[in-house]
Amino acid sequence: MSAIVIDGKAISLKVREEVKRRAGKLEPRGIVPCLAVILVGEDPASLSYVTAKEKALAEAEMASRDYRLAASTGEDELLALIGRLNADEQVHGILVQLPLPSHISEERVITAIDPRKDVDGFHPVSVGNMVLGRPGFLPCTPHGVLVLLRELRIPTAGAHAVVLGRSNIVGKPLANLLSRRDVNATVTICHTGTKELPSITRQGDILIAAAGRAGLVTADMVKEGAAVIDVGVNRVADSGAKKGYRLRGDVDYGPVAEKAAWITPVPGGVGPMTIAMLLQNVVEAAERFAGGRPC
Ligand code: NAD
Repeated sequence: MSAIVIDGKAISLKVREEVKRRAGKLEPRGIVPCLAVILVGEDPASLSYVTAKEKALAEAEMASRDYRLAASTGEDELLALIGRLNADEQVHGILVQLPLPSHISEERVITAIDPRKDVDGFHPVSVGNMVLGRPGFLPCTPHGVLVLLRELRIPTAGAHAVVLGRSNIVGKPLANLLSRRDVNATVTICHTGTKELPSITRQGDILIAAAGRAGLVTADMVKEGAAVIDVGVNRVADSGAKKGYRLRGDVDYGPVAEKAAWITPVPGGVGPMTIAMLLQNVVEAAERFAGGRPC
């Protein structure tokens, strides 16, 4: 079998077109959806994510406000900035690029964001709404994975979905969303404490890798005909590459593509969807603001 390669770039462009249309509908009311993007420090990967997000916002004719803060910025200063952005009616979403320097508490910072502007979906209120199935902002990467499954019409009802990773931003929310009634998968979460990992991953009709370990998922760990979604983005040293590294997913792509029925490439799979779902959350935040609707 040779897998269908899931074109995340093309699907993300569809989402972004729709977002642009929704943003345009707010224009006559003088509302331009605006995301405040805060980057603390100069981590090169974070910098490239932030730049990509701002470019995508501009392409959707939405606004961004760029806050580049020194790595030495104190927690109080960052919290004060978030307080000002919470009160600013021109700003509909606030994104603090993670990870933060170790002297700043990510938990305190995320919790300081007004849940109505929490377009990353990381605030405890957003997480609670997601778990309870109430309206709210869904975290972008897990939401993007769900959209990919839906767009490709990959059967999820009754399917066994195996999620590799239990982080708060990917693994845990994905597992939660996959078990929702409208998705209806049976979910197993694997992590560093999991024993006999290959015997579990081989049961996955849907296998989602979000471990952050290049090439962890080899063909012998995959069920014939599975849908394999690779969330991992790992920088692997490559002296032949211009930047000295190349991006690799958690999945051993070539051999796994021979066995799976669907597979996402890295790059070009989940990554573009994350940005598209962020834009969707920003326009949603602006629409709620326009409609005076609560979070
Ligand atoms: P994380 O380090 O917070 O979590 C990784 C999880 O994988 C942990 O829960 C750990 O228990 C599990 N794990 C690690 N090694 C394992 C192993 N050998 N066996 C079993 N489980 C193992 O990472 P994260 O923030 O969830 O991100 C995961 C990956 O996804 C990273 O490569 C990250 O760069 C990528 N990512 C991509 C996007 C995107 O838009 N494409 C977005 C977020 C994260």
